[in-house]
Amino acid sequence: MWMSTFARFALPALQRSTSAMACQALRARCTPGSLPSCLTSVQLRRQHTLGSASVPVARHSVRHVRALDEERLMEVEWEDGGHSLYPFTWLRDNCQCPQCTLHSAKARKLLMSDLDIHTGVDVVEVTNDNKVSVVWPDQHHSVFDADWLKKRCFSPAARQAMQEELFLNERYYWDSTLRIPTADYQEVLHDDKAALAWLLALRRVGIVYLRGAPTEQGQVARLAERIGYLRLTFYGHTWQVQDKYQANNVAYTSGRLSPHTDYPALHFAPGVQFLHCINQAVEGGESEAVDGFHMAEQLQKEDPEAFQTLATLRVDFTDTGTDYCDFMLQSKKRIIDLDADGRLVRINYNNATRDSVLDLPLHQVQPFYRALKAYVDIMNRPENVVTYRMEPGDLVTFDNWRLLHGRRSYVSSPDRLRHLEGAYLDWDEVMSRLRILRHAVHGNA
Ligand SMILES: [Zn+2]
Repeated sequence: MWMSTFARFALPALQRSTSAMACQALRARCTPGSLPSCLTSVQLRRQHTLGSASVPVARHSVRHVRALDEERLMEVEWEDGGHSLYPFTWLRDNCQCPQCTLHSAKARKLLMSDLDIHTGVDVVEVTNDNKVSVVWPDQHHSVFDADWLKKRCFSPAARQAMQEELFLNERYYWDSTLRIPTADYQEVLHDDKAALAWLLALRRVGIVYLRGAPTEQGQVARLAERIGYLRLTFYGHTWQVQDKYQANNVAYTSGRLSPHTDYPALHFAPGVQFLHCINQAVEGGESEAVDGFHMAEQLQKEDPEAFQTLATLRVDFTDTGTDYCDFMLQSKKRIIDLDADGRLVRINYNNATRDSVLDLPLHQVQPFYRALKAYVDIMNRPENVVTYRMEPGDLVTFDNWRLLHGRRSYVSSPDRLRHLEGAYLDWDEVMSRLRILRHAVHGNA
């Protein structure tokens, strides 16, 4: 059932192992009525449901606290029998008193130069209202809230939970069978629950469709204002995708666009893209999308050497022209961008702006082409590509760091000009709004 299929997109328990097998397991587990209690869902258009993960509200009680002076650690024993350890230095650094913290800015006032990183403690104890009190050797006094401490526990599990709450890095990987999550444009603009569900799905699935936008320019900017502000680039605050004479971008023609990410010629490519259909071609112009992270994972399984090549070699991208103003961009990017832990961060690939300058030693040129071809071949497999046709009033929002999108060629006719308006945002702004909405909808857990 579609509702359950959708609900799993929002499952906070979806681990990094988003292999087909893991998805199968989730599908099996996630039948209506058996949803985890931490999951609430918001009904959107028709049968489509956007799930939203609530932050569990739990009050933690301290049973006992003691100083392990030798290790310079404070140990908290929780009412449930669990233990947490906190370094003295970290506790002193994060004293929440008004002298050490500027509460109006939620920012640290204590200077690094005033922090004794070898401090001991005089007294640690549990207060009557179940807080942890620390008196330092200079008689400075700190009081820590139990829940505040619990969330900042240094155990691997607690750290992982906190990071997931902050960054929502668990993704739902998909292929051509994806039914694109869909929400109502007006509801997203005016209802916090709908907006939260939209952004959660945008983060986890990477693509969300909005229906019911007016068929006039200005809607992508309005949607960007719902979040914060849009990202200005050389193509302007927003940009008009149309068949243009003397086009300064291949997007501004009626030809096919193979799957690409936008703007790898910028070292910091836009994180999120909005595309609003104002007018569609009579024939052709269907949109295509591929899950670049899922395809990278497939490449890693099928051809680890090719994956390694794309994850290590830096490729030159270029973009030159005049639009908002004149520009002459150059960048160097890995096509598969991994973080220090080997996790996928971003796909950077646009064949149109990949530079003829290729800064590689001769012996790496052919392996590079072989690797890129292997990745692109996987992305072009019909079982991996989602195809959809935008109609006037439709608006698609997607993760430009993860998805590759394309378009089939279309027949350009002067009396019915295909016209999409686009805009970019960055993930920082989107995640900021998502966290604020989560607090508004679920409370300050
Ligand atoms: Zn203080």
